[in-house]
Order: sequence, then structure tokens, then C-alpha cells
Amino acid sequence: MFGGNFSGISGTNLEFHLVRRKRKGIPIVGFLETRLMDYSTVFIAPLNEDVLPSVSVSKSLIPYSLRKAYHLPCKEEQDAVTAYHFYRLLQRARNIYFFYNTDLNDTGGGERSRYLFQIHHEIIEKVKPVKLEYLQQESQLIPEPILPISIAKNDSIIGKLREKYILTDPTSPPKGISASALSSYIACSLRFYLDQLVYLRPEDKTEGLSAGHFGNVLHKAMEIAYEGRSILNADDYPDITNRIPEIVGSSIAKVYDKPVNFGHDYLMKGVLTELIHRIINFDMQHTPFEILGLELNANSVLPIDGVGNFMIKGIIDRVDFKDGNYRILDYKTGQDKIMKKWNFEKLFNDPAYKLNLQLLIYCMLAKEILDIQGNNLIAGIFKMKEFDEEITWLNDANEIEEETMQQFIAGLKNLLSQIFNPEIPFSQTSDLKRCRYCDYKGLCQRQNA
Ligand code: SF4
Repeated sequence: MFGGNFSGISGTNLEFHLVRRKRKGIPIVGFLETRLMDYSTVFIAPLNEDVLPSVSVSKSLIPYSLRKAYHLPCKEEQDAVTAYHFYRLLQRARNIYFFYNTDLNDTGGGERSRYLFQIHHEIIEKVKPVKLEYLQQESQLIPEPILPISIAKNDSIIGKLREKYILTDPTSPPKGISASALSSYIACSLRFYLDQLVYLRPEDKTEGLSAGHFGNVLHKAMEIAYEGRSILNADDYPDITNRIPEIVGSSIAKVYDKPVNFGHDYLMKGVLTELIHRIINFDMQHTPFEILGLELNANSVLPIDGVGNFMIKGIIDRVDFKDGNYRILDYKTGQDKIMKKWNFEKLFNDPAYKLNLQLLIYCMLAKEILDIQGNNLIAGIFKMKEFDEEITWLNDANEIEEETMQQFIAGLKNLLSQIFNPEIPFSQTSDLKRCRYCDYKGLCQRQNA
């Protein structure tokens, strides 16, 4: 509250009066300090509901019902005291200015106090010499322009890229680029920069078995299920099937070191067990086949003109051999598009096809580390969300011919050389749909994408 001997005021001279009067001791006070004081001019701010009267609850240890039953002061009495101070303060004032704001907050707000409604309906209409005038002050919002973010590839950034991806000394190989990092580059080169070079990616703070854990546990379980086995026949399966609960238990223990005996985690464990049953059952019906690799850690180096030996890395879920074909297989818990026919334009430009890019990179790596010659290579996924009776095959289950692989490798080299091209900055995607689930949408001011 401000009190003083003002006589009329407007927005521009408010400050002047306050400054002038301050020297004479203009009181800026709370309600309790106004007791026994009368002012000719009063400013009350803010006269919003929830502020006057206040919503603060008593911090007493005695609960409301007991206070009420034993006639101790409750919220109602506090309200009555506030109302008394408020109306008493107005009694002898000639000019009264109320301020309230109409801004909404998360829980509503922006409402004028009930006292103002009372004044409007009960006092103004009955006490004729009193006039009430409403004025609205609007502040014009001029939003800051959103400037595009673009990171030029200076020497320091090129240096970081080289350190991370280019093989110079075979005794100390670089980290290498993964299929998911490449997909991130395709989706948005700025996101790639923030994830891979600035390491801004937020930690996964999800409590319980998150989607990330879920996929890892499933992969680990399938590795444990077939570990130490080579050729799988139908009569191997009763043993594997009986061990599923134990397999799930030990894969959870390796990936997620918390008990999963209740709640959400317990349900997730049940879902995992069911999915592993389905894969094992499917495999049993498609025996015999030979396991060539599980969770295969593979690297390859692609020479790129003007850049150097670019290291590509990947962990291939499973490579097996069946009916004369090498099969590159991946267990997928997400929803991804799979190409029935090759479309390299989409593959290298549309992140929706990231799974295809990943499978082709795995084919390239598997060919190299297992020395697979010829065209007898197929790739597919166990699409866990809708896994029923068949693996979802890339290229409609047709063999991935050597010519296709060469075409793919040429496109991949082109993409890798772009990453190093100093003429192409790391910049924001123009496709706002790609920002929808991005961790950096706050930074890019694309929250509404
Ligand atoms: S919010 Fe959009 S523009 Fe920004 S980094 Fe993410 S995908 Fe790129």
C-alpha cells in the first residue's frame, strides 16, 4: 500500500509524486501498519484474488477441524481481519487506486479480488458520491526475433571431428561413427553437433526400466540364450525355453542392477519374458541355422578423399547362416519404416529410414569382418512391437547384391565427406517435425514444433 496526500494522478506523474513525497516520508506499508492511520490518497497493489485476501494457510500443527471445533482462530477469522483492515483504510480516503493484474499463470490467476466486486456491487451503487473508474494498462509485447543457429566448421571443430572419427594410428583407433550418430546428422546437423561434439545430450533420468534399458535387456537376453552355441536344431530348444526365466533374470542383472520384483519394472520383466519366448519359439520353428555372431562389435574404415580413413563402428545383434544365406538380424523395440525397395535418396536424407541405414551399415561391417563374398546376404528385423510370424525383411527378403552394397557405400562416403566439409555449417533442420522430440528444442526455441 502507498499512502499520501495525493490529489489525482496519472501514469506519467506517478513517479514524480512518489519521488517528491518520499523525501517527506511517503509510507509504503503492509496492512497491519495502517492501523489507526488515515490517508487521503491510497494505492493498493496488487488487488488480486489470492493476494487480498491471502490464500496462505495457517502453519499451525492443530488441524483445521480441531481448530474449528474448539473455536480457535481459523482461515475465516484471518479473512475477516484482512477485510476489516481493507475497508477501514478506505473509510477516510478521497482518492483510492487499486491495481490488479490480469496475467494468467499455470493455475489460472489474473482474477481481481472479491473486495473489488464487493465495492462495485455493494458500495458504488449505494453510496452515490463515490465513483469507480476502470482503466486498462496494456504492455505491448515485442517478441525477440528468433535467430537461426548455425555453427561454422572452424579449425577447432574440424580437429575434434578428426580426433573422433579419423584413423591415423592403428594402435590408437578413434571412437568411430555409429549408425545412430549418422541418423542424427541426417535428421539435423546441429543436433549431431550438440550430441556428438559438445556432448550436451541430457542424462536419462527415467526411473525404472526405461525404453533404453528395455532394448538392452532384450539384446543381452538373446545373447545369453545362444551364447556358446553354433548350429541350432529343434532339439536344442526345450533346454533354451526352460532357461528363459533364468536368462531374463541374468540379463536384467547385467543391464539394470535394481530389483524388478514389483510395480512397473515387474510388468516390464513379464513383457520381456513374453517377447523372448516369441523369438525363441520362432527360431525353433525355423531350425536349423548356424549362429555366426551375437552382439558383434564391428569396425570398418572407409577412405574418404580429402578427409582420411573414416572409422565406422557398430554392434550387430546377430549374424547367422540359414538356407545358404547370411542373415543380418536386429531386435527392434521401436516403430521404424523399412524399405521394401531401395531408395537411396530417402535413405541418406530422411531420418524416418534410419533403420535401413543401420542395417546396410551392419551388412557392410559383417561382410568385412566375416569375409562374406557374393550376394547371399539378407537383412531384417524382429519388430518386437508387432512380432508375429515373420521377420521384417529389408528389400522384401531379396538378397542384397554386391552392386547395391557398392551404391550404398558410395552414398555413405558422400554423407561422411559432408560432415567434414567446412563449407557446410552445422545448422538447424528446416523440417519442424524433426524437432518434436529433440532434446534441444528449448535451445532452438522450437518448443511448439
Ligand atoms: S530442435 Fe530441431 S533444429 Fe534444434 S537441434 Fe533439435 S532437431 Fe535440430
